[in-house]
Amino acid sequence: MQEMRIFLSRPHMSGREQDWVAKAFDSNFVTPLGPQLDAFEKVVGDYLGHGLHCVALSSGSAALHLALRLAGVGQGDEVWISSMTFAGGIFPVCYQGANPRFFDLSPDSWTIDTDLLAAELAKAAKENRLPKAIVPTDLYGQSVDLGPLEHLAAQYQVRLIVDSAESLGALFQPSRKAGTGGDAAILSFNGNKIITTSGGGMLVTRHEEWAKQARFLATQARDPAPHYQHSTVGYNYRLSNICAAIGLGQMEVLDTRVQRRRAIFDRYRTALSRAGVDFMPEPKGRYSTRWLTAMTIDPTLTGVSREDIRLALLAELIESRPLWKPMHMQPLFASAPYHGTGVDEALFANGLCLPSGSDMTDDQQDEVIGHITRLLDRR
Ligand SMILES: *Cc1c(COP(=O)(O)O)cnc(C)c1O
Repeated sequence: MQEMRIFLSRPHMSGREQDWVAKAFDSNFVTPLGPQLDAFEKVVGDYLGHGLHCVALSSGSAALHLALRLAGVGQGDEVWISSMTFAGGIFPVCYQGANPRFFDLSPDSWTIDTDLLAAELAKAAKENRLPKAIVPTDLYGQSVDLGPLEHLAAQYQVRLIVDSAESLGALFQPSRKAGTGGDAAILSFNGNKIITTSGGGMLVTRHEEWAKQARFLATQARDPAPHYQHSTVGYNYRLSNICAAIGLGQMEVLDTRVQRRRAIFDRYRTALSRAGVDFMPEPKGRYSTRWLTAMTIDPTLTGVSREDIRLALLAELIESRPLWKPMHMQPLFASAPYHGTGVDEALFANGLCLPSGSDMTDDQQDEVIGHITRLLDRR
């Protein structure tokens, strides 16, 4: 296969990462503990504010796995979760032997439909079958509607874990950042996210005890003893100090990366908007990072399908990708319950993520816009 020329989202270094990595090498903390790891947790914690506790982990999926376990999710429990998400945001539910119940998105935000959730919670409370946890997903850089979600979680005494893997740098309200929600939120620093540690994640929680337990479980659950003693199952989930050093260099540029991604989104929207071509909405009070520019195209209005665009770009070695395929449509979850009217199904049918990397040049973006415009004008 030929190498792509323009990517969906590539790692974009600040240039400061290697200095931090060199510091880690100088002190020989080539380990899953060390001063850079501690500093990275502190920098992210300071950025998010609100006195939250941060635990750096090997991936966002690992963070979600620990959060679910700390929420008490176990065999046979239900976890209510956004259907439109990445597999890493759902597999940990399976690791715990729990059953997902999937929810549709609101068309106004493309994040979980809180009215739908409220109605189902009311019904489930009457029937004594409330879920153990709710896991709404911040999509493509946009925070979920945290206010009503936190209210519902408190009302029904259900744990709330927010999947903020895609939204570091986003705002929910002027003073509230994505990644600060619920009992815990999870972040991802995978290579294609807005900032990266090459691979990594973080558990962010307001419960000090959860953070303490997460550190314990993530380092093989060693009881205090001179020998290795264990009374519960643990994991090797801690982030490497070297990767954390990369993260320190990346945190220095997070806000400029957000501004760049938003500028890329605005440029696409200005150039491509027309009848039948729409872009992901941003409701009042929310500030998305526009991690990936997500557009929808109505083939009946434009004569062009999402696949027409994707394949035309691919022929030019330009990477684009359909929106996440909803989990209730996946073979793996064919028998899982789903609540909704298919907002997510329609987004999957007609939605496409365009190249959105913060290192993409204006010329490259003009080229992408040019190919799509020619396709639209031809019909
Ligand atoms: C990236 C992502 C994850 C998983 O993060 P990893 O670090 O890749 O394990 C989870 N949920 C969502 C929505 C994601 O986009």
